[in-house]
Amino acid sequence: MKYISTRSGAPDLAFDDVLLAGLARDGGLYVPESWPQFSENDIRDLRGLNYQELAIRIMLPFLGDTIPDDDFANIVNDAYAQFDHPQIAPTKQLGDDLWVAELFHGPTLAFKDYSLQVVVRLFDYVLKKRGERVTIVGATSGDTGSAAIEACKDRDAIEIFILHPKGRVSNVQRRQMTTVLSANVHNIAVDGTFDDCQDMVKSLFGDEGFRDTHNLSAVNSINWARIMAQIVYYFWAAIELGAPDKKFVFAVPTGNFGNVYAGYAAKQMGLPIEKFIVASNENDILTRFFESGTMSMKPVVPTLSPSMDIQISSNFERLLFDRYDRDGKAVAKALDEFRRTQSIEFGQGRWQAMLEDFEGYRVSNDETKAAIRNVYEATGELFDPHSIIGVVAGQQFAVASDVIKIALATAHPAKFPTAVEEASGVHPELPAHLTNLFERKERLDELPNDLNLVSNFIAGKLAERKAA
Ligand SMILES: *Cc1c(COP(=O)(O)O)cnc(C)c1O
Repeated sequence: MKYISTRSGAPDLAFDDVLLAGLARDGGLYVPESWPQFSENDIRDLRGLNYQELAIRIMLPFLGDTIPDDDFANIVNDAYAQFDHPQIAPTKQLGDDLWVAELFHGPTLAFKDYSLQVVVRLFDYVLKKRGERVTIVGATSGDTGSAAIEACKDRDAIEIFILHPKGRVSNVQRRQMTTVLSANVHNIAVDGTFDDCQDMVKSLFGDEGFRDTHNLSAVNSINWARIMAQIVYYFWAAIELGAPDKKFVFAVPTGNFGNVYAGYAAKQMGLPIEKFIVASNENDILTRFFESGTMSMKPVVPTLSPSMDIQISSNFERLLFDRYDRDGKAVAKALDEFRRTQSIEFGQGRWQAMLEDFEGYRVSNDETKAAIRNVYEATGELFDPHSIIGVVAGQQFAVASDVIKIALATAHPAKFPTAVEEASGVHPELPAHLTNLFERKERLDELPNDLNLVSNFIAGKLAERKAA
């Protein structure tokens, strides 16, 4: 299995190199050269497997011969060992034709655990084989940082530095990061905004000397291996509910388009999915695009679902690559125009082709709060402000009688207790493994919003760790 860049200007790579590279050298994203195929009978053969067994079967074709089967099986089994539900991603019925797939049973209560727990172990495995170490540096508004830290803690080949905006992440999110006391984990609270943090991370990666000296790396949502691990729960949920003999519609709370693109990949592999509802909050660039055929940028506004507060969805480029018939030069040209003019049409034919697979839906802050309350009163189920957006999008979508709608619940309600309690009057309880979160010791360093101080701090810590 070879991987190719969506801008056709970088070398083709094997899985292990794509894993460590993240972004392609031409600025593009890596995608597999072809999709592994699962026929109806192949899908029937997957029935009865547990989540880990299914995950191995779905992901193995993507690895080529880069990782021995047994080692990969150990990695997958270890990755999901600490999830707090035996089914890992249980499905629950919410209405006549609407189901929910719960993707919040990992250590940090959001779906990012499902990919990062696998991807970071793969990183560690490949690095150790090569005798290399990396420094992962990232900025977070909450969810990604905690999931990355939890996955990276105590891994031999990895140091991790996560910048978060001081006082601007929820107490639960902060504590999920700062109570991880492993020596290779470094939390930096920056006196600034999330954008300040992100700009500093970009500058650190842009500084070639710093990047090469410390072997900087990222595990952000454009990493192919994260998409790969997310394909699994689409197969899992659909098979649980009758695939390949039923058809499905998935409603997906969307930010960077990584999660819903993994669903699109599952469809290319043979899973019978009729449509994806791309559900957004008031940051609705994708919804406006699917409605109008024009993609145009707008400033980000803060909402109740911060992990979906994005201006541009980076993984959308992977879909564009297919709609441009895998002509990377044409993709690069279109994206360049978009960057210059902040607005673009990709052509009527391409837009129509995308509408075959996708439809957009937008949920405002007021609708989010009302829906958390209404769904709780009607069903007894409490949803967080991200998941409820998928539920609302799923509820409004009409389907034929042989089609099952599945909304992805991307975070546990206790991860966003303030918003949930304000909307519903109910305080969502943390799951058992986190009940003492507020008694745990925290460790973090506070730094001013100053690139030099932050880079010196990172270099200093790395020197200390090397000496130890
Ligand atoms: C990251 C995140 C999303 C958005 O997912 P994308 O893959 O970026 O589209 C939605 N909900 C939650 C809770 C998240 O953490």
